[in-house]
Formats: sequence, C-alpha cells, structure tokens
Amino acid sequence: MTVRPIWITGEPVLHRPARPVVDFGPELSDLITDLHDTMRRAPGVGLAAPQIGVGLRVFVWEWEDDSGIAHEGVVVNPRLDRSPVPRGGPDPDEDVEGCLSVPALRFPLQRAPHVVLTGVTGQGEPLSISADGWLARIFQHEMDHLEGTLYVDRLRWRDKRQARKEIKAEGWGRPQISWLPGLDNLEDSGEEPEEA
Ligand code: ZN
Repeated sequence: MTVRPIWITGEPVLHRPARPVVDFGPELSDLITDLHDTMRRAPGVGLAAPQIGVGLRVFVWEWEDDSGIAHEGVVVNPRLDRSPVPRGGPDPDEDVEGCLSVPALRFPLQRAPHVVLTGVTGQGEPLSISADGWLARIFQHEMDHLEGTLYVDRLRWRDKRQARKEIKAEGWGRPQISWLPGLDNLEDSGEEPEEA
C-alpha cells in the first residue's frame, strides 16, 4: 500500500492528455493499488493517474449513493458517451464540484446527467457502466483529467476568474507543488461535497 503525493494545478502532467495503457503487467496493478490507496486516504471519490504524476489513461472511483449503495471500480483506456448538458446553468447547491488537484476549493459546474463509461479493467477485460447523477459527474471529472482538463477550466466566466484568483492566492498554478494525503490535511472539511 502506497499513498502517493497528489499534484496540484500547475504541474504539467495535469494539463496534457494522458497516454493509452499498452502494458497490462504488474506495474499497472501497482498503479491501480496506489490510486485506490491515495483516493481513500485523501479522502476523495475519484482519482486519475495524472493526479499522482502518471500520464496514463487510468482512473478509479469509490462513492456511496444516497441509498447506501457503494460504487467502486477502475477503468483503463476509457471512453465516455454523455447525454446533452441541460441549459440554464448549474444549481448553486446541487452542482458544486471539487478536485483533489485544486484542494479545498469548490465551484458550481453543470455536467451531463447521464453517461455510459466503457473501457477495460486492470486485467484488460471489457467493462461498460451506465451512470446518472453524481456517479456520472465523477466519471466526467476523471475523464477530463485524462484529457488534461481540470474542472476549473470548465467553469462559467465569473467563477473561472474567481478560481484563478484563489489558485494564485494559494501560490499554486506552477509546477512541483503537491500534497500528501494523511500528512497534509487539506481535505478534512467533512460536510463539503466530496472531491475527485
Ligand atoms: Zn480532480
């Protein structure tokens, strides 16, 4: 078990597309274990490989819905089909998103309500998951990470400006800044929406 440092916005690996996985050997299973361990310690509801400095198309998730049903998994080389994003802008209470690579900040962002995630498991077996609501949001957030996009890049103009200001005030937005879950308690705010 290894909890790895999570890179903060400004680190180049977060801002470029990740490469497809071609080798399904022991290094990939170690990476998947580290992603799960790091996500749980953060704690977060999702984590993509670039967030721990690995530019490969892999992400993990673990999230319990309102009925207490746990959704947990890993996908390699994913593809995401999305329903249209509704018009009208995000709900300021329901659509608030956060990111472990922009820790402790949160902004409203509207996402597609329904997605279908396809790809393969760590063993290369095909998988397909249909998701709604928060799980659909997690998948879209993590998929963005694999494309080198952070949720703050997608905000409405005013929120984006505010995010830039707060990122600058934290001293982020430049390379070589990370935090270590379990050591740096950036994410123990409890009642806030979960980050990914
Ligand atoms: Zn994120």
